[in-house]
Amino acid sequence: MSDRARTHPLAGVVGWPVAQSRSPRLHRHWMARHGLPGDYVALEVAPEDLAEVVRMLPRAGFVGVNVTVPHKRAALALADEASERARRVGAANTLTFRDGRILADTTDGEGFLRALREGAPDWRPEAGPAVLLGAGGAARAVLDALLEAGVPELHLLNRTAAAAEALAAELGRGRVRVRPWIEAGNAVEDGLLVVNATALGMEGAPPLRVPLDGLHAGQVVTDLVYAPLETRLLREARAAGAVAVDGLGMLLHQAAGAFEAWWRVRPEVDEDLRRAVLG
Ligand code: NAP
Repeated sequence: MSDRARTHPLAGVVGWPVAQSRSPRLHRHWMARHGLPGDYVALEVAPEDLAEVVRMLPRAGFVGVNVTVPHKRAALALADEASERARRVGAANTLTFRDGRILADTTDGEGFLRALREGAPDWRPEAGPAVLLGAGGAARAVLDALLEAGVPELHLLNRTAAAAEALAAELGRGRVRVRPWIEAGNAVEDGLLVVNATALGMEGAPPLRVPLDGLHAGQVVTDLVYAPLETRLLREARAAGAVAVDGLGMLLHQAAGAFEAWWRVRPEVDEDLRRAVLG
């Protein structure tokens, strides 16, 4: 490794596209706060180039990278070692380069749970069912984390039922009940916890057109969508007296796990950081 690489270590995020990523702003905030030299950069890498580019990064001074859509599954496949949770979920969002090896982990589920516990400290996973909308990449990590945390029953609803069935069969541990998407309006009434892990409600995506009048006090409602920060789901949840937890917390806490893996220091998730990321 060159001297430059040793004195200015790099980290980054690999995606396709990646311009929209808030990770550089987030990690640079922590690097500055912890007096770390180097930089965190966004790398736009096409799927067919992923393996070649990633294998070259340690030689360019990288200590690790975050991996985002659409590379999370491929990132796991190219790693030399993987954490148990990354293998279980079948995806990686964090690669760490150490001693010539590529280590894969996923911090999405842990980030989700930390954010949820921070926003809803009274929520107890074992106290009642969770309702999860979506069966894409983010929903996989959330479902796994919720079942690990001890949720007794999880109702899973997705527009494409086959994707929900496949997810339940693979990771469901016999505790997942797949319900038709058309029942979403009823389902949101049934969860002690309600999670939107679809892209619906995100800027540039269609709205979440699910009837929300069943939301009620005593529930915890969280949306993985963080742009906008206050989604219709969260607004309606608050209006109904439920506890609403926005999606930014998950983004920040999953990033904290990666930062710790590379720099061996756990960074703070605080208001300053939220402000820096929201810019
Ligand atoms: P993904 O793998 O592409 O999955 C998208 C999900 O949205 C699928 O369940 C898909 O259903 C559903 N969906 C898309 N368009 C739909 C429509 N018109 N009607 C009904 N359902 C629709 O994406 P992802 O990576 O899981 O991300 C999902 C959301 O979570 C995104 O908004 C993303 O920004 C957010 N996210 C947030 C964080 C965070 O840290 N807060 C982390 C990861 C992701 P089908 O299976 O039927 O296509």
